[in-house]
Amino acid sequence: MSVPNVYISRLTPLGYVDNMEAITKEVKLMMNPDAAFADVPEEEGDPERFGVKDVEDVNWINYFNSLACTECGRCTSVCPANITGKLLSPRKIMMDTRARMKEKGPGLVKDGNNFDDAKALIGTYITEEELWACTQCNACAEECPVNINQPSLILDMRRYLVMEESKAPSGLNTVFSNIENNGAPWQFSPEDRMLWAEGLDVPLMSDGKNPEYLFWIGSAGAFDDRYKKVTREFIKILNHLKVDYAVLGTEETDSGDVARRAGNEMLYQMQAMMNIEVMNGYEVKNIITCDPHDFNTLKNEYPDFDGNYNVIHHTQFLQQHISAGTLKIDGDAFAGKKITFHDPCYLGRANGEYDAPRTVLNSIPSVKVEMGRNKSFALCCGAGGGQMFKEAENGDKEVFIERTEEALKTGCDIIATACPFCMVMMTDGLKYKNKEEDIKNMDIVELVSVSMGL
Ligand code: SF4
Ligand code: SF4
Repeated sequence: MSVPNVYISRLTPLGYVDNMEAITKEVKLMMNPDAAFADVPEEEGDPERFGVKDVEDVNWINYFNSLACTECGRCTSVCPANITGKLLSPRKIMMDTRARMKEKGPGLVKDGNNFDDAKALIGTYITEEELWACTQCNACAEECPVNINQPSLILDMRRYLVMEESKAPSGLNTVFSNIENNGAPWQFSPEDRMLWAEGLDVPLMSDGKNPEYLFWIGSAGAFDDRYKKVTREFIKILNHLKVDYAVLGTEETDSGDVARRAGNEMLYQMQAMMNIEVMNGYEVKNIITCDPHDFNTLKNEYPDFDGNYNVIHHTQFLQQHISAGTLKIDGDAFAGKKITFHDPCYLGRANGEYDAPRTVLNSIPSVKVEMGRNKSFALCCGAGGGQMFKEAENGDKEVFIERTEEALKTGCDIIATACPFCMVMMTDGLKYKNKEEDIKNMDIVELVSVSMGL
């Protein structure tokens, strides 16, 4: 099965998650006021189950994947959850799926979906603890020699737990209700979404000037105290470059990325549709964002709902200006300082962008050092897949500590990041290791703006 599996494997970026059409129907119905009074034709048969509880729910690609698995274990050897002693092993997930199909298949062939042996893939074979330990970092999928996409199957099982059983870790339930009520993972009022810009003159899309770029702030950029500083620094760079841009202000709401990767597809789709309606209303064409998670979602996943934009991450934007000669970084604020870069999973593996951040860093006078695991092999910071908002599963250590230790081994003075969630985790790691006084964690945006004396 391995050779045909490679032949039929999907060619979309690793960061792309398949859309759930059944959910789209429901969400469109909910969001269309006219539909509330329309006669909805009754569906024939049992309603479709959301997500994967047992093997009959597994899509054919993931079923083929389970058959194609060579059990080589490369996926598990790079899995941050497994490396740090959690129960999760992506190899076991694929082998369990295959074993369960072997067990249940004959009964399904004989009795159809009515066959019930009082067992299930979730529960009998795979525990919830395994599923919630995944950071959706895609290291396993990147490493698999037969192009198996393990995170998509894990996500399908989370979707079942969240949407059919309302069984998510409590931290994630809080995130879901915050996004639903406040449009952000934290309990802030949507009206406060522009407070980060206090004292700055930031143009709004509602000014009606149809600018070249929408600067997408993202929930972390708007509300996280540390990352608000990065957002403000990036505004300085935009102004310095005289870029024609505007922000959505209070018209922006959470992208839905965290909700989606934590299994709440319904909430994700609602957020996506709301944002797309606003952005299409302004005829947005180009988007810049500092958040690689939103970069991935807006670039790869919003097109499923007619949200088609040219989306670039801030490191790509800076790289373009450096290459064009419009951005010159000649200050020596970091001369002689050792800088190591932590690749964000959703810029790197999910979208294959490893050069842009390095081009920008290389243009800053300083000494660059790479961590042992870098680029496509980079270890996740531990925040993805909703992990940042919940307690970690039991293990030997937390993922952010493992990654921080790796950064410290380089002897760096600065850990450069390019993602709000990586910044939280790496800063926590430095605090945990009592290194916050000696070593700084800075976003690439800050390194540029400080170097330029902005
Ligand atoms: S996506 Fe990352 S955390 Fe999840 S199973 Fe794969 S390697 Fe492990
Ligand atoms: S890397 Fe791929 S083939 Fe190897 S064990 Fe993991 S899923 Fe199976």
